[in-house]
Amino acid sequence: MKHKPVQLWKYYKIEGNKVIRRLRYCKKCGNTFMATRKTDKEISYYCGKCKTTIFEFQKAL
Ligand SMILES: [Zn+2]
Repeated sequence: MKHKPVQLWKYYKIEGNKVIRRLRYCKKCGNTFMATRKTDKEISYYCGKCKTTIFEFQKAL
């Protein structure tokens, strides 16, 4: 499996002068950041440490 470099800017959303973090902490591990993958219908968070995956369906904006 190929490893792509992590693009941190992808996990941030800037609104005005506010920076909104899109990263999530793993509830199981406590302080481990989860990798975010976004599709048209859902956002999934994956913890590389305990392999937990959380799916979050996007709400209509
Ligand atoms: Zn975890």
